[in-house]
Amino acid sequence: MSKAFSSEVDAGSRKENASKQKSDYDVAVVGGGLLGSAIAWGLGRLGKSVAVLDEGDITKRASRANFALVWVQSKGLGMPAYTVWTVQASQAWRRLASELKQQTGLDVALQQNGGFHLTLGDDEFGQRTELVKRMHNQVGAADYKMEMLSASEVKKSLPLIGPDVSGGSYCPLDGHVNSLRTFRAFHTGFRAFGIDYFPERPVSAISKSGGEFRLATPKGELRAAKIVLAAGNANQTLAPMVGLYAPMGPTRGQIVVTERTMPFLPHPLTTIRQTDEGTVMIGDSKEDELDERTMKHSISGVMADRAQRMFPHLARLNVVRSWAGIRVMPQDGFPIYDQSKTHPGAFVACCHSGVTLASNHAFEIARMVTQGALEPELVGAFSASRFGDAGAANNSGY
Ligand SMILES: Cc1cc2nc3c(=O)[nH]c(=O)nc-3n(C[C@H](O)[C@H](O)[C@H](O)COP(=O)(O)OP(=O)(O)OC[C@H]3O[C@@H](n4cnc5c(N)ncnc54)[C@H](O)[C@@H]3O)c2cc1C
Repeated sequence: MSKAFSSEVDAGSRKENASKQKSDYDVAVVGGGLLGSAIAWGLGRLGKSVAVLDEGDITKRASRANFALVWVQSKGLGMPAYTVWTVQASQAWRRLASELKQQTGLDVALQQNGGFHLTLGDDEFGQRTELVKRMHNQVGAADYKMEMLSASEVKKSLPLIGPDVSGGSYCPLDGHVNSLRTFRAFHTGFRAFGIDYFPERPVSAISKSGGEFRLATPKGELRAAKIVLAAGNANQTLAPMVGLYAPMGPTRGQIVVTERTMPFLPHPLTTIRQTDEGTVMIGDSKEDELDERTMKHSISGVMADRAQRMFPHLARLNVVRSWAGIRVMPQDGFPIYDQSKTHPGAFVACCHSGVTLASNHAFEIARMVTQGALEPELVGAFSASRFGDAGAANNSGY
């Protein structure tokens, strides 16, 4: 264990740790979920000395509960910059998967051969067609190459669809990954870069003095020249400590997993995907309730029913697992990346779609934090200044 914490230094290793007293680290990342670990990994890759302060395995968070899509289609209606950011992330994912594999030996099972959003009945087909049209017409948006397909066209790629499927949209940039293995690969990788990970160190206060940040935890204080707040929904509380703003509006999602079955689904869907291990994941609801300890079977029932209307043979499979998770959700659904004017060197990062955007966090956000400033042309649209004083409606595609 590193002895960077002041109380631990007092406990006995004063001499050997004296060199770590002045700004123990270049950067302290607060939160070791998918965002914090991707950014920390990216910082380690650039040679920075980094500490990750986390609550750890004691908490169940979005990074352990997600659906694992690397998803592009339908994201960013109302914010063209988000379409550009998402496409960039999707395109950088192969490089990320390959670097993680090379460094850690872990294959994150990235599959990016396009994804479908299937519709049931004429009304849903009509609504989806309208959405695709609006996405195409959005000025300044990236070209998703998203198209509507009839049921017979969908059947050419997904031969086992049932008669209730009326068609769907397809986007060649969509994919999925083993997200828990990705999470593990980031942690394995950042440790290999020499990054210190401190579980059970929830940060309770942050101040800046003498040009460095001081982060208070139950096990002592840690000092760093820069900080990145990547604590998910808890950013709402932490951000104001350093002159930042992160208004959050989390939602809950449920996921159901079946036993393993023969490979039948060559492309992921918005709500169904077959994992690299053969199980079928059915997801994911959007609920206002925020208790992740209970399952609502009435909701899982609707999800399972829709899944078996899409693929009737799923009715024969047993459900082996299900869970609920709380989404990290900025109030309008779009990411927040910001830097403090009052506390230079403090950054905040939070978003839904932390799987999809992991490549951008690892390569782009880490690079900008290292340089000391976010680049307005790349992420200026994601500043929390867009909220003004009032909250905004969620229009992000979720
Ligand atoms: C049901 C569901 C389905 C999803 N599906 C997808 C999907 O298909 N594709 C996709 O791209 N994304 C998906 N997501 C979203 C994705 O999982 C999240 O965007 C991502 O996990 C957010 O990561 P995070 O690190 O910001 O937050 P978290 O996972 O919440 O991690 C935050 C970390 O900060 C720690 N922390 C909190 N407070 C403090 C503190 N004071 N001090 C120190 N540490 C602290 C926590 O313990 C935690 O470890 C889904 C999410 C859910 C719930």
